[in-house]
Amino acid sequence: MDCLFCKIAAGQLPSNSLYEDDLVKAFYDINPGAPVHFLVVPKQHIATINDINAGNSALIAHIYEVIAKLAAQLKLDKGYRVVSNCGEDSGQTVGHIHFHVLAGRLLAWPPG
Ligand code: AMP
Ligand code: ZN
Repeated sequence: MDCLFCKIAAGQLPSNSLYEDDLVKAFYDINPGAPVHFLVVPKQHIATINDINAGNSALIAHIYEVIAKLAAQLKLDKGYRVVSNCGEDSGQTVGHIHFHVLAGRLLAWPPG
């Protein structure tokens, strides 16, 4: 499948990698929106949140475990935001589910 994040997760395209295990990869966003901005993606292709089901939800739970571990490692003690854009109105541009982790500045709410 011609999918950017499948290729990055498989190491077929380069990334500024932060973490990797059998199930997921985390790498810094190429166009950061905050002083700390990385993405966590499953190695398995899942298109959007709409495609989460009983068969793959353990993988999504694992992603949140990884996010918590990385937040501790990076000492994001003042907090951070996790965002997964889903569909056209959200601005999703890559059709492989990914979790943005943003930190290092005061994050406005509501988001744009
Ligand atoms: P979204 O708009 O929610 O689909 O997020 C896609 C994100 O992927 C954007 O923040 C992009 O800056 C980021 N991105 C696109 N290509 C790459 C790449 N090759 N390496 C790292 N991040 C990327
Ligand atoms: Zn993919």
